[in-house]
Amino acid sequence: MQWFAYYEARPRVTNMTENKVRVRFAPSPTGFLHVGGARTALFNWLFARNQGGVFILRIEDTDADRSRPELVEAVLDGLRWLGLDWDEGPYFQSQRLESYHALAERLRAAGHAYPCFCTPEELKQRREQAQKAGRPPKYDGRCRRLASEEVAARLERGERHALRFVVPEEGRTAFDDLVAGRVEVAHEEIEDFVLLRSDRQPTYHLGVVADDLDMRITHVIRGADHLSNTPKQILIYQALDRPAPTFAHVPLILGSDRTRLSKRHGATSVTAYAEEGFLPEAFRNFLALLGWSPGDDSQLLRTEELTRRFSLQQVSRSNAVFDRQKLEWFNAEYLRSEPLEKILPDIEKELRRAGLWRDGFAAEEREWFVAAVELLRPRVRLLRDFSTWARAFFAEEFDYDPAAVKKFLKDERLAGFLSEELQALEKVSDWTHDEIEKAVRGVAEKNGVKAGLLINATRVALTGQAVAPPLFNTMELLGRRRVLPRLARLIERFADLTAASR
Ligand code: GLU
Repeated sequence: MQWFAYYEARPRVTNMTENKVRVRFAPSPTGFLHVGGARTALFNWLFARNQGGVFILRIEDTDADRSRPELVEAVLDGLRWLGLDWDEGPYFQSQRLESYHALAERLRAAGHAYPCFCTPEELKQRREQAQKAGRPPKYDGRCRRLASEEVAARLERGERHALRFVVPEEGRTAFDDLVAGRVEVAHEEIEDFVLLRSDRQPTYHLGVVADDLDMRITHVIRGADHLSNTPKQILIYQALDRPAPTFAHVPLILGSDRTRLSKRHGATSVTAYAEEGFLPEAFRNFLALLGWSPGDDSQLLRTEELTRRFSLQQVSRSNAVFDRQKLEWFNAEYLRSEPLEKILPDIEKELRRAGLWRDGFAAEEREWFVAAVELLRPRVRLLRDFSTWARAFFAEEFDYDPAAVKKFLKDERLAGFLSEELQALEKVSDWTHDEIEKAVRGVAEKNGVKAGLLINATRVALTGQAVAPPLFNTMELLGRRRVLPRLARLIERFADLTAASR
């Protein structure tokens, strides 16, 4: 914790290091990485990578009950999954109390902060009175007006007190936000806010300014919900006679009904998406476009392109809507187009999770396994589809989807047709796509029915699904030794299955 020691004016040398962009992601450890937080982290990371800057991770854990290590670890896991590597940190606010106390003392000594002896009960009462009288419920400045002898005496007695910032009574604070534009607030709207609580814990405002100064943060990129906090922080910088960083407040993420994204809209933690079978690259690409646009209609932007094209100027002011369908679209695109070696480990992980992995897939059956993935991947949306929808490719036991049974096994003659097909397939000497196709079509022709009738029924027999990769490729891939018993099994169960679906 040594390197960011002090607030003393630093020598005004400008060298390369001083000019370097330094940004931070500063989550409170809530036990998971929220989608909104992930997007904020991503924008910081992209900006740092785009600018050749430094991305710092800082954990805002001054809340005692939030400093449990497992809560932090979950946030870090989310960042790691997304591939957002940090260059410095994580720093922990809980380990930096001395810095906050030093800064608070400096503000107090310079007349920018004063002790406030009002008790929580008194404050509450006065707030209620103000509200009743139709006045804004801001702190009335009572302790700011105490005579210095009284203050000294009460401090001497060790009376419990907080430390409040002296907000100028007149004038306004303004700043130019890179996203929100010009923001101006009249000082009369800002109360003398608390810097240190009576238990000596720093408030968010004190901690964030101390850290951003110490860590030499050049750009604060964070959620628009912090826009209203910014004037207070700027007042602290001014009191310290230090330049404030540049601010960029990114728009909120809304659910499909345009209210702020919450549990009601489905999963909000990044880990839940990881577990559900999204690829980190796809999720990241999707997140990047929540509030940022590359300036044209490109959608699929891989890491290199994202970092090259990212700019804060292109972050939109309007709120972004989290569209699950769109996310799935991205995932499907990535599953279909990533280099195979890149997604194989993810697929292996998914099959292991589902208990479908066989070591042979990485050894003597590898070629077969790769061919199966190639056949399947243009048709999956989630990694999980490999173990659910495509289960029959990796396991002998699978269920027949009732909807598929209902739709494709309706015709009672199929039991007979499938038996004929089985016999024809037994005779196929060269188990290739074309030979298989000839055999199946031959049966249809002989019986004067459409080939589709048999093709659809066979698909149900072999995969349990109504929709699967092209049938003859599937049959060739599954091989004679899987195809024939599966057909026989369906024929045997035909009556039961179709009765159940009627
Ligand atoms: N801990 C704050 C949050 O999670 C960070 C605020 C900031 O970036 O200044 O919202």
